[in-house]
Amino acid sequence: MSEIFKGIEPMVHNSKISVPYSWWAGDTASKFFISLRDARKIIAPRCGKCGKVFMPPRKVCPACFTENTDWVDVSDEGTVVSYSVSRRRLEAIPGDKKVPVIWGLIKLDGADTALLHYLDEVDPGSVTIGMRVKAVFAESRTGGIRDISHFKPVK
Ligand SMILES: [Zn+2]
Repeated sequence: MSEIFKGIEPMVHNSKISVPYSWWAGDTASKFFISLRDARKIIAPRCGKCGKVFMPPRKVCPACFTENTDWVDVSDEGTVVSYSVSRRRLEAIPGDKKVPVIWGLIKLDGADTALLHYLDEVDPGSVTIGMRVKAVFAESRTGGIRDISHFKPVK
């Protein structure tokens, strides 16, 4: 510490900063988001070497290191492979979501990996691993992951 600060009590100021930012989603995510927005269709890239289908989309297969240039349709239905319930309002929870919020890892039929998204229209105590769920698309879509509003149980 510099001589000029000797004897001065260190002060802490608590505050928040706003850091607005924008970035290009990239060609892989853009293709996925445009399909959600314009066609309400969930598409995913597939590795041309090992055949794995990635949801969420990945540009490069992490096992083969090849670019995933094939795209396939995946189902809007899938299976809950894990989930978590937040009963507190966390900063990560969008303002339009009511607590409790349920996050689920959902493996869509036709995909080899699981997508993190919201589960809704279900009591948190009724969610189970292995539960079958279906995507509910947002009425107003803007080209983002929340063009899928949430996943609900398949009746
Ligand atoms: Zn591969």
